[in-house]
Amino acid sequence: MNKFLILCMVFMCSACTTQTIGIVQPQAAATPTKNTSPLDSKLSSTATIDNFTITNHLTPITLNVNVIILTNDQKKHSNFDWNNAEEKSLVQDYFEKINEVWSHFYQPDNLTGCYTGTDFYNDSKIRFKFNYITYEDATAWNYKNSGANIEKKNYSGISPYEGWYLKNLDQKFSNDPSIPKGILVYLTMDGENFDRFASNNAKGYNIAGVEASQFPTTTNLTRTSSIHIPNRYLKYLYHRYQLTTEYKTNWQETRKWHVNDAVGSAHEFGHTMGLEHSNQYHKANQCKYALMSQTGSDPRNYLQPTEILKAHKNLRESNLIQFVTENSFLGNTFLIPQHTTWTKTQRFYSNLKVADNVTLTIKEPIIMAPQAKITFGKNAKIIFEKNGKITYPNGKEFTGYVNKSTDTIIKN
Ligand SMILES: [Zn+2]
Repeated sequence: MNKFLILCMVFMCSACTTQTIGIVQPQAAATPTKNTSPLDSKLSSTATIDNFTITNHLTPITLNVNVIILTNDQKKHSNFDWNNAEEKSLVQDYFEKINEVWSHFYQPDNLTGCYTGTDFYNDSKIRFKFNYITYEDATAWNYKNSGANIEKKNYSGISPYEGWYLKNLDQKFSNDPSIPKGILVYLTMDGENFDRFASNNAKGYNIAGVEASQFPTTTNLTRTSSIHIPNRYLKYLYHRYQLTTEYKTNWQETRKWHVNDAVGSAHEFGHTMGLEHSNQYHKANQCKYALMSQTGSDPRNYLQPTEILKAHKNLRESNLIQFVTENSFLGNTFLIPQHTTWTKTQRFYSNLKVADNVTLTIKEPIIMAPQAKITFGKNAKIIFEKNGKITYPNGKEFTGYVNKSTDTIIKN
């Protein structure tokens, strides 16, 4: 029963009305504030996992993302056409905007009600590498086959979870060795209203911009993570052909509005990273600067440092570890300062240093970046028990030990 309730809460929480219909004006470009983290260089090199802070010199972690452009073979044009240079570049710019959001946060003038700390990270040090796939599947293309009806605010079916209407595609793309394992983003359509809007370039388009995504899991590290973005192509027609007339402007201008809608998708990526509309500093939607606010008219160009660190924790401990590129490496070092036992799989994008006289006991597989080193302090030890081992992302045994001697690694 508990499990069911949790699922429902997640379900409700992750279906987001990310923007209202109409224009979303690009935000005025403020000057990004420099990273003001107090621990900027040497200190952080000996931080523990719990004291981790983001510093400017870290190299971002990159996650693979497969954007699935679903099409309907019964129609000549049913979604963005990858052979159409303009539509292709629009889709690419739209998704790259998500990287811009996650790498250029702005420090709000006033954090009242948002956060009590004085630290600020302008860059999450998290990036997304988009891989685009056009896939013909008329049933999947029409999200109304999920039971959802956005016009009637019936969002049941729209949110990705292990049993949703695209579960078979989740498995198919996840198991396809020809594409990188990544977060799955589906571009779907309202199949019932598609012809009506597509035939007149989205005149009278009025479907709310609802998107939905799936929180990460720490209990099933092989689970998929999906994001659902309906009707983006119809919105493109609307921006291109209707708003240009309505606002007496041109596509060059409304194209920016379209790309700016990607702030809503950047919010969905926040859910994928494990972030919610609320956190320990405020209730849902109470910080208008936060990317995780649901109000489309809010600035939404900021994330609390604690939220960014939450995302990094999930990149180490959740099913997100599957989607990170093989050579992602932050470049910092985590100190293991006291006797420690790891009973769960973790993936690190950092070096490790086991402090003098400290024993690190490892009971489940640990994954280290190819560039990483594990340094032993004086009389430091690693003990492997149960399923414990350390590998690279490709599964090969980790060899990057420094100061290893004959009795520093013990296999029980
Ligand atoms: Zn949301």
